[in-house]
Amino acid sequence: MENLIIKKTTMPKERPREIKSFGTIFTDHILVMDYTKNNGWDNMRIEPYGSIALDPSACALHYGQGVFEGLKAYKTKNGDIQLFRPLDNFLRLNRSCAKVCIPQLDANMLLDGLEQLVKLEKDWIPEEEGTSLYIRPYIIATEAFLGVRPAVEYKLLIILSPVGAYYPEGLKPVKILVEENYVRAVRGGLGEAKTMANYAASLLAAEEAKKKGFSQVLWLDGVERKYVEEVGTMNIFFKINGKVSTPALNGSILQGITRDSVIQVLQKWEIPVEERKITIDEIVAASKNGTLEEIFGTGTAAVISPVGKMAYGNELLSIEDYDDESLSIKLYNFLTGIQYGTVQDDFNWIKRI
Ligand SMILES: *Cc1c(COP(=O)(O)O)cnc(C)c1O
Repeated sequence: MENLIIKKTTMPKERPREIKSFGTIFTDHILVMDYTKNNGWDNMRIEPYGSIALDPSACALHYGQGVFEGLKAYKTKNGDIQLFRPLDNFLRLNRSCAKVCIPQLDANMLLDGLEQLVKLEKDWIPEEEGTSLYIRPYIIATEAFLGVRPAVEYKLLIILSPVGAYYPEGLKPVKILVEENYVRAVRGGLGEAKTMANYAASLLAAEEAKKKGFSQVLWLDGVERKYVEEVGTMNIFFKINGKVSTPALNGSILQGITRDSVIQVLQKWEIPVEERKITIDEIVAASKNGTLEEIFGTGTAAVISPVGKMAYGNELLSIEDYDDESLSIKLYNFLTGIQYGTVQDDFNWIKRI
């Protein structure tokens, strides 16, 4: 792209030597783009990181018309920079936009802009094992008005945040609580889109679960509270009797890119995998009759997150024996291997920049 304006910072920040928390450190530059009624999406540019001016009546602040994405840039041992399926993130961004009446973007142009931003900030990508540069594209409705209708002005931003290893002490199985009171999303709602509102809807349940000693909640369907949907902000998989199952996309489940990658890898490995309706009772029964082998979440942040304990009412399911032979660990090693360039990418998922 020729016409991307880059305004460089005159005050580069000091780069951290070590990163302890997620999403608190940001790089020197951001990518910005505006949407106006007359010009559509226009004026893509790179600017120094800093506060953005918003009218107090900007409608995203009132009615939550906003969407986001999350992906990562990885540095390989040779110093190459790699993105994992980035176009899929921008295509999903467009699907999320459609759900909340935000005008569509040119996904390829966005990817082009992102590559220029990451190149400019390449020295911010940490190099230690398991670390990466988290990429957060998002869009907010900026038009100043209080009527309830889709805005006619928007801002897209991409911010970058160096992040530490998700598992500094090795993959540790998490403890999750099956949520019986609150629901995250319902079919026909926004559940399958990455909208800001979904996250607001998930906070209270997550806080209450944390107080009880669980790291995530497992969401059931919003109508019957019977079918498994997702875990926290990850998709979920069960391995029962050698067969892998994940909830079928039904409109209220987010279409995770890691989820899709896991399905493709399992198919390649010729391990039976199916997308279907899964009841929570079936999981409890499989645990009782000894056929429940593994549970794991999938998402960009953790890649694979094995579940060690799952509480549902008075039941406490336990899967403690994860080791290098476990499917979840093999999937973790394989996918992170592709991301960091140590495993050959036969799927064509890597975009090197
Ligand atoms: C982002 C997200 C996921 C995971 O998607 P990935 O593309 O794999 O990172 C799963 N569930 C929810 C609710 C999400 O927002």
